Amino acid sequence: MTKENIIYLAKKDLPKKWYNIQADLRKPLDPPLHPGTKQPMTPQELEAIFPMNLLEQEVSQERWINIPEDILDVLSMWRPTPLIRATRLEAELKTPAQIWYKYEGGSPPGSHKPNTAVAQAYFNKQAGIKRLSTETGAGQWGSALSFACYHYGIKCQVYMVKVSYNQKPYRKSMMHLWQADVVASPSHKTEAGKKILEKDPDCPGSLGIAISEAVEDTLNHKDTKYALGSVLNHVLLHQTVIGLETKEQFKQAGVKPDVLIGCVGGGSNFAGFAFPFMEEKLTGKNDYRFIAVEPAACPTLTRGEYRYDFGDTIGMTPLMKMYTLGHDFIPAGIHAGGLRYHGMAPLVSALTEQNLIEAQAKMQIPTFEAAVMFARTEGIIPAPETAHAIRSAIDEAIRAKEENKPKVIAFIFSGHGLLDLSAYDSYFSGHLKDFEYVPKK
Ligand SMILES: *Cc1c(COP(=O)(O)O)cnc(C)c1O
Repeated sequence: MTKENIIYLAKKDLPKKWYNIQADLRKPLDPPLHPGTKQPMTPQELEAIFPMNLLEQEVSQERWINIPEDILDVLSMWRPTPLIRATRLEAELKTPAQIWYKYEGGSPPGSHKPNTAVAQAYFNKQAGIKRLSTETGAGQWGSALSFACYHYGIKCQVYMVKVSYNQKPYRKSMMHLWQADVVASPSHKTEAGKKILEKDPDCPGSLGIAISEAVEDTLNHKDTKYALGSVLNHVLLHQTVIGLETKEQFKQAGVKPDVLIGCVGGGSNFAGFAFPFMEEKLTGKNDYRFIAVEPAACPTLTRGEYRYDFGDTIGMTPLMKMYTLGHDFIPAGIHAGGLRYHGMAPLVSALTEQNLIEAQAKMQIPTFEAAVMFARTEGIIPAPETAHAIRSAIDEAIRAKEENKPKVIAFIFSGHGLLDLSAYDSYFSGHLKDFEYVPKK
């Protein structure tokens, strides 16, 4: 009998509630601090940049939070997403391990990001907001929010890191298609941007700078709020539909995963996949290994410090307790643009500090080797970010072979790489480089 290698769920099996891991933490998160006074910030103080309904989710201690029907309806355009067993990759590796991946590349913009973009646009619309301002690195978040804003009839202003703006013109086209306004950051639209351009007219930009610009834009427009595509508690919350579906799919397959793997930039796809399983670990029902994989060029969890830091470069955002490389750190120009962030979600940081999550850092060239092996065997071309999770999954499968252990490896396939083919060209032409992280003195 051939076993089912692709597990689909019916539309009716879409999760109806998000899982809030704050209810099960061993100790509560440290609160965000005011950038000026360094005092704990209340949701009311944060209302200048976020609507109250999302701030309530940000601090909620409720274990389950209802997903509004209207959001489920939009998510059902591409969800539930399939859980797929990578049998051809297993055969290529001659591993006794099973390798499964949860495929998030089938959404309209091609990644996991619309899971929260749709929810954020919905709740802002409910709060009477007319315009959202945001930053984007490689363009994945900008295109996801553009899609969601178009759906709800909200204007979308995107500050796109200048190197990506020039390197990834098709992400920009996608945002235009969904009628967003996109500018290269640093820009002349904000004081933060102007200040940086005065000092360095050729500044390539960074996520930290683009966040400063998007937040300043928000503070200067009455009808506008700010939207962030990762890091924050409510963003991770919205992504838990991924792991909730995956749990149901493994149940239907009659398989229990031993290790769960995801790449981490700000931590949202990893958290969305892992937290519903982490609930079982925190409550003593089941044990799993969790691996968060980051680029060696931006090794926040493996080389950063766990302390309060700003989310942006200028120091306008609240201070968050997290692993950080320092808010003025500008990582090397690796192709995994979505993983070039100096900080990490406070929730992922806290669980890593408590040794509940293992962190790994991978070099750029080995991650592309893994991506190519995956694309050749499984037929799907991964985003350079996703390739980090694949590298780690392949390394686990190779270890399983050496130890002759038939374990079950599961990873999240965060997005496809069809708009990243120029990065693959660089890899094939031998132009790709490995970057060592150099700590500041
Ligand atoms: C943005 C992005 C990431 C990194 O962001 P997280 O918040 O860590 O998930 C990873 N993969 C893809 C495809 C992305 O677009």
